[in-house]
Amino acid sequence: MEDRVLVVGGGTIGLATGFELVRQGTPVTLFERNDAGRGTSWQAAGMLAPDAEIGFEELSLYGLNRESLRRWPDFARRVEAASGMDVDYRDEGTLIVADDRDSAEALRRLFEFQEEQGLDVDWLTGEEAREIEPFLAPRLTAAIFCPSDHQVDNRRFLEATRTAFEAEGGTLHEQTPVEVVQPDPDAPAVVTADGERVEGGQVLVAAGVWSRDLDGLTPEAQPPVRPVKGQMLQLRRKTPFDLQHVVRGPDAYLAPKSDGRIVMGATSEEMGFDTTVTAGGLYDLLEGGWEVVPGIYDLPVDETWAGLRPASRDHAPLLGRTGAPGVCMATGHYRHGILLTPVTAEEMARLLRTGETSTWLEPFSPRRFSGTQSSNVSP
Ligand SMILES: Cc1cc2nc3c(=O)[nH]c(=O)nc-3n(C[C@H](O)[C@H](O)[C@H](O)COP(=O)(O)OP(=O)(O)OC[C@H]3O[C@@H](n4cnc5c(N)ncnc54)[C@H](O)[C@@H]3O)c2cc1C
Repeated sequence: MEDRVLVVGGGTIGLATGFELVRQGTPVTLFERNDAGRGTSWQAAGMLAPDAEIGFEELSLYGLNRESLRRWPDFARRVEAASGMDVDYRDEGTLIVADDRDSAEALRRLFEFQEEQGLDVDWLTGEEAREIEPFLAPRLTAAIFCPSDHQVDNRRFLEATRTAFEAEGGTLHEQTPVEVVQPDPDAPAVVTADGERVEGGQVLVAAGVWSRDLDGLTPEAQPPVRPVKGQMLQLRRKTPFDLQHVVRGPDAYLAPKSDGRIVMGATSEEMGFDTTVTAGGLYDLLEGGWEVVPGIYDLPVDETWAGLRPASRDHAPLLGRTGAPGVCMATGHYRHGILLTPVTAEEMARLLRTGETSTWLEPFSPRRFSGTQSSNVSP
């Protein structure tokens, strides 16, 4: 039986899973309709922040996020070694700040919850926060320091992962949209937009927010993902301004990269596939950023964009076998796709290579929405 895996979609998930597979000796052909790495993954901020983003109702997702963060440094080193490129993994930590009484109360509630869950976090006064990040607004009264929440330059990471994938022998077809997936237990196939049919041993759908547009899957096997729009803007650091940590305010976050970019985000809008950058969106981000780090006022703006987060109905990813024979899926990573890259890539590669599902994947079976089988365990 052919053991080649056909991957549809070259974002962080498709590229990283492809890299893991080829590194371990499984042949992979990856189809990307545009340039690899330029979809939602390119639009992200690169925060690896399970502690700051812990949700009161999402504890099983927190466990997966945390596990993925634990794996990030090794994963980054492997990609760097295979590509010869630096991905700018930064471990200074994250500051969550409050800028008025309401947000200070919300911050206190979050801190209490984080402590209850045993997270490694510190409560700081405004003065203590400014000691480690001097450009924070003088009027900020409180902050939570999350030393374990790191970040990466997602754009560099994507370029490195793409290079690493090819360096390890992966086959990449760019400008090659897949139109149809043809399920089959032994020889599933994909059909590209120019009519070529390619057969493999298994198919992995990793087409992000566009995963449900593929023809050939039954309605039960189609992933229930929807786009959630996020507008972003990018500033350029200029002396004497400086920022070392990711700073998260009530209405905007700032993620400083080592090449001088400061990525600011993000709105959260249910606007279908619309990616228009609006005056109102940018205004909200600039105001939210300026309130917590007023020194951004004089910085040049050098890029604005909007991306589409792939959100499932329960906001957790869909990872594992679908109801369609020979077809697996890794999508629906919503706000955490960069963070969740190592655990997704490693566990999906294991499933595709050996047929074994780890306990990490079980709660996130794509079949949990179809009402047929809920587990990743059965074939
Ligand atoms: C504004 C914003 C900020 C974010 N910030 C963060 C953050 O700080 N940290 C974090 O962890 N996550 C963040 N995210 C979320 C993260 O970006 C996503 O969860 C992640 O990028 C999803 O990766 P993906 O590989 O599934 O999708 P994508 O990167 O979109 O990759 C899918 C690829 O499939 C291709 N494709 C689609 N259809 C086809 C087809 N038919 N044939 C061939 N190819 C196809 C697309 O062109 C695309 O390249 C953010 C998202 C947004 C929008």
